Amino acid sequence: MADCIFCKIANKELPSTTVYENDRIMVFRDIHPAAPTHLLIIPKRHIPTLSHCQADDAALLGEMMALIPELAKKEGIQVEGDGNGASKGGFRVVVNAGPDGRQDVYHLHIHLMGGPRPWKNQN
Ligand code: AMP
Repeated sequence: MADCIFCKIANKELPSTTVYENDRIMVFRDIHPAAPTHLLIIPKRHIPTLSHCQADDAALLGEMMALIPELAKKEGIQVEGDGNGASKGGFRVVVNAGPDGRQDVYHLHIHLMGGPRPWKNQN
């Protein structure tokens, strides 16, 4: 899409702080981080919103989600422990969709936010 900033980032027409890339997916740092670590996981192919995904996007969506544990570990925001009461660390995963979902950039992206509290938005 000609006017899409995330397409331009995926095509290297705009700069980004890329932390991961393959043929289908790119991950870069959010320019206005809401948490100590704030990454955006995007498909390189233009999909405007999560609402525009279809059954045959399941593999792509699954690949994007399945990257998160590895990204979290690299960023040092993984959940430590067995996931029970004694755990430490962790992160939030958010997908905004459409105006009521407060989506600003209409190219599908997953927010991965983590790091020690407090965070900027306190979400
Ligand atoms: P959303 O409100 O879910 O559409 O989130 C869009 C996110 O994209 C916001 O957190 C912005 O800070 C971020 N953003 C916008 N432009 C850029 C950019 N050029 N590079 C990195 N992040 C960006």
